[in-house]
Amino acid sequence: MTGVSSARAVNLTKKLTEVGIRDQTVLDAVANTPRELFLDGALAHKAYENTALPIGQGQTISQPYIVARMTELLMQTKPQRVLEIGTGSGYQAAVLAQLVPELCTIERIKSLQIQARQRLKKLDLHNVSFKYGDGWKGWSNRGPFDGIMVTAAAVTVPQALLEQLSDNGVLIIPVGDDHQQLLKITRHGDEYESQVIEAVKFVPLINGDLA
Ligand code: SAH
Repeated sequence: MTGVSSARAVNLTKKLTEVGIRDQTVLDAVANTPRELFLDGALAHKAYENTALPIGQGQTISQPYIVARMTELLMQTKPQRVLEIGTGSGYQAAVLAQLVPELCTIERIKSLQIQARQRLKKLDLHNVSFKYGDGWKGWSNRGPFDGIMVTAAAVTVPQALLEQLSDNGVLIIPVGDDHQQLLKITRHGDEYESQVIEAVKFVPLINGDLA
């Protein structure tokens, strides 16, 4: 990472503060991440707008507000080892990789995964392991994870992800179909405490064969 934030990125973090993001480490990570690198050239001029944008293959890079919100929720417990499901463009992974010691990320579309890997390398973020696979199953031999973030909406909470949480670990996941809610699920031994955060709109988490 360059450590130099562009004026447009700093401006974006001001907007994020206005809509309620408070964690300065998260705001700094967003300010340090060149979002245009995660977009097609034709969309680069929109990189610092607070909107979701297409990344090809019918997928989207999430709105910066939701990236910051989910990251802030995850960082409340200072996780050491984190799993992200849905690498997509790699933008959320780039933000997380600046905040946690170890990040694992899974994507089911190979071409997106290859691009994301190149982008993180270019940014000198080397604490990220990439897996091409089905995120419903998690990544059992790399777990347990103190934090898991799912960046696609699941119809139900995948059991494997609950099992791969460490004690006091936190799962941030959008759940639902047409009407989705962002949930924060905390593990306490064999018990799971679920908290509804807010209504969200994500592409679906696919359950099944790889693309
Ligand atoms: N975090 C991404 C958001 C990508 S959109 C970013 O910052 O750009 C959600 C992504 O989840 C898509 O790339 C989609 O291919 C992926 N996805 C959907 N179902 C999946 C599954 N079962 N396993 C892994 N990835 C999945």
